[in-house]
Amino acid sequence: MKFLTLVVHAGQEPDPRTGAVNVPVHFSSTFAQDGLGGRRLGFEYARTGNPSRQALETTLAALEGGAHGLAFASGQAASTAALDLLQPGDEILTLPDVYGGSYRLFHRVYEKYGIRTVTAAASTVEALKAALSPATALVWVESPSNPLLNILDIAAVAGLLAGRQGPRGERPVLLVDNTFASPALQNPLALGADVVAHSGTKYLSGHSDVVAGALVTSRQDLWERLKFYQNAAGGVPSPMDCYLLQRGIRTLPLRMRQHERNAFQVAAFLRGHRKVETVFFPGFEDHPGYAVARRQMRGFPGMVSFRVAGGLEAVRELFSRLRLIVPAESLGGVESLACHPATMTHAAIPPEERLKAGITDNLVRLSLGIEDGDDLVEDLTAALG
Ligand code: PLP
Repeated sequence: MKFLTLVVHAGQEPDPRTGAVNVPVHFSSTFAQDGLGGRRLGFEYARTGNPSRQALETTLAALEGGAHGLAFASGQAASTAALDLLQPGDEILTLPDVYGGSYRLFHRVYEKYGIRTVTAAASTVEALKAALSPATALVWVESPSNPLLNILDIAAVAGLLAGRQGPRGERPVLLVDNTFASPALQNPLALGADVVAHSGTKYLSGHSDVVAGALVTSRQDLWERLKFYQNAAGGVPSPMDCYLLQRGIRTLPLRMRQHERNAFQVAAFLRGHRKVETVFFPGFEDHPGYAVARRQMRGFPGMVSFRVAGGLEAVRELFSRLRLIVPAESLGGVESLACHPATMTHAAIPPEERLKAGITDNLVRLSLGIEDGDDLVEDLTAALG
């Protein structure tokens, strides 16, 4: 099936009992058993598995071209499950600009368990190569990255790890956080990644009405360990959240087309504006990642970042003058949002680390929604002054 068909049908067959075309929301925490220890219809307790989540997990796996999908209560709950693949003494190798919450999770939660995080000197394959060590057990990357929209050649990173041995003789696991691209634009498993992670809160749900997360893998060994953790730790989404996410997914490729259109229009507008110093948008042909992006993605998400001339004061002014674009954290919804990474999504990163990563106080990250691009440009024109 093609992607437009998959989003509508994968994991979403009409309900066999009633014929309902939407997967019913199964509000049941437990399921009747046939006497002692006999599962009647494949379910026993809803944390372990339930029909609403099973349908969503089937959809997620299909969208990423993976064998197994796992749904979680948030992107961070999904990330935590992936980090459970590690042991004390293992190292995570990551990039300078990844989601600030991932940085916080690595350093503030996992360091105390003896899991160290090494940050490559730059968001490049060469920098990752230079930072690999015998203790590297997990390589955690984003492409496009949050918030600077750097593009990383995922197949090249997978090639780097092929044949390498991690701390227990296993090849280091390559995890790609695919939140920014969404499976409509990029499938990291096909590029050699072992695990794909998502904040389902973003493009997958698409309507800023649910917090959820997902992992997808084709590796049976990893899936068994992740599935065990999902049940043991219990960070699962509610049946209602599963339904909302699945409903959002059905329009994902249609939404992505308009997000992309608006990103191109707004990026071009910002580039020509006298109050804008630099625009970060991988759809520009002179973006250093453009060729790789064209090769590994099927389009561009609605994400554009830029530096405002005049520093933090100018950002404050800009945010106070926006009338349509909403100043807020998060991204990927139908409505356009403006985020200030230094004080919002990446505030958990110490200022000197933030600056090293290029997350300056005058950096603004836009998530362009699906409104008419002319209205977004008009709003920005008035707000930039
Ligand atoms: N990964 C990326 C790239 C994100 O932007 C976010 C949230 O902003 C997350 C993971 C975490 O997801 P959640 O907020 O659903 O826990």
